[in-house]
Amino acid sequence: MAYIEPAPIKDKENPLESMMERFNIAAEKLGLSNEVYNVLKNPAKQVIVSLPITMDDGRIEVFEGIRVIHSNILGPAKGGIRFAPDVHLDEVRALAAWMTWKCAVVDIPYGGGKGGVKCNPREMSRGEIERLMRAYTTAMIDVFGPDKDIPAPDMGTGPREMAWLMDQYSKAHGMTVNAVVTGKPLVLGGSLGRTEATGRGVMVSALAAMQKLKINPFQATCAVQGFGNVGSWAAQLLEERGLKITAISDISGAYQNENGIDIQAAIQYRDGNNGTLEGFDGAEKLSDPMELLELDVDVLVPAAVEDVITIKNVDKIKAKLIVEGANGPTSARADAIINEKGIMAVPDILANAGGVTVSYFEWVQNRLGYKWTAERVNRRSDRIMKDAFDHVYEASIKYDVPMRIAAYIVAIDKVAKTYTFRGGF
Ligand code: GLU
Repeated sequence: MAYIEPAPIKDKENPLESMMERFNIAAEKLGLSNEVYNVLKNPAKQVIVSLPITMDDGRIEVFEGIRVIHSNILGPAKGGIRFAPDVHLDEVRALAAWMTWKCAVVDIPYGGGKGGVKCNPREMSRGEIERLMRAYTTAMIDVFGPDKDIPAPDMGTGPREMAWLMDQYSKAHGMTVNAVVTGKPLVLGGSLGRTEATGRGVMVSALAAMQKLKINPFQATCAVQGFGNVGSWAAQLLEERGLKITAISDISGAYQNENGIDIQAAIQYRDGNNGTLEGFDGAEKLSDPMELLELDVDVLVPAAVEDVITIKNVDKIKAKLIVEGANGPTSARADAIINEKGIMAVPDILANAGGVTVSYFEWVQNRLGYKWTAERVNRRSDRIMKDAFDHVYEASIKYDVPMRIAAYIVAIDKVAKTYTFRGGF
């Protein structure tokens, strides 16, 4: 692929290459024409800005902000904003493309985008983060828009940051524009059910896959990597559906309890402990947090960061089912071994699409000036997730491919058909 730039992170697979490898396989299976292939492989727009921010000590620090719109073929671009120290263009490009495929898999009328600011929010004050978010929004004022590009939370950002974004955008337009961003606090037009939506979608996908694999949830064990919004909600909802969660992890380490971890207790502990599980006594701390991925469990939910299941550890995975809460947790090179071992992997672009699905509901409610009940949100998102799972499962049988490639096939086919109707110049 001539256009792929070298990976800036050594010893890791480049997420853009991982995305493209799957895209290439699916494109070939579909018999995608060269013209459409070239349209879909390149991002539609990439914006990089410098953001000079006055820090609390009076210094001015310059941050790099990125927004990539991979595609707006199905509708306005949609995707989160990541605040993390290792944000880089290739990663944002991959994440933006994943959003295109994700929205297409669940059949919502959005293209894909993603944003990122290279920073460490854990080491920044509330005021510094607010100034950074407002500066980023101002820099992207012509990129964002309820009919152009609709951001949302991602790693390192949440409802608080989305409120600042909405406010900054609204000030610039002289009116309240709440549909410009999703994942907002409820009082600003956020949707009921949005906070738990990604974890809930992971739960729905996991149960649908377990049904296919004939795994009884009441006899199943599960390890969840990551205890942020996605991981902790997935763990809680899977526990409610009968699974025994025997391991969880976060930035402080991984914790195991063969008898099952009380997830409510872990969440309460985290919330009262500066957001981390450090010192949690409802489980034993593992010496190496990566061991969590290799535990003898039925279901493994990677819900933290990219590239954790790689060629280096995939051989040691014992789970029968992997349900990807994170974006890009499995490298492309690990795919073949997962398939060889007969493990079913419900891919990120399907398994974690519950979040963007409820983002879509939030945007719909904002545009209607109306509020749905939590019951309506959950019922509709569960149905979308289950239908998408069934659709991808059918494609995996039809094309005789694993679930991941089937999800790409479903997505690329939809975007390609839409592009063919819309046409180019
Ligand atoms: N950042 C989330 C994701 O990767 C949510 C995106 C959205 O709601 O637009 O799916």
